[in-house]
Amino acid sequence: MFATKAAKKKKLMDMPKIRKKAEGLGIKPGRMKKTELIHCIQTAEGCTPCFGTSNGQCPYTDCCFMPDCLKIR
Ligand code: SF4
Repeated sequence: MFATKAAKKKKLMDMPKIRKKAEGLGIKPGRMKKTELIHCIQTAEGCTPCFGTSNGQCPYTDCCFMPDCLKIR
């Protein structure tokens, strides 16, 4: 399976960290849900808004959202 070991070593990004990251990119988090906010961050970074679509596997081991993402099935 891709990236499972790497994901276990990383810590989950909690909402305050995600909000801070979003604000750093000029996004106003408001009342956005976690998934919506992460998608905005990914788009702002020029990435595909893929959070939640890994189905437990992903080759992008440097993704900071991986520990959360891999849990979503
Ligand atoms: S773990 Fe993979 S699918 Fe999930 S957000 Fe990161 S890059 Fe996208």
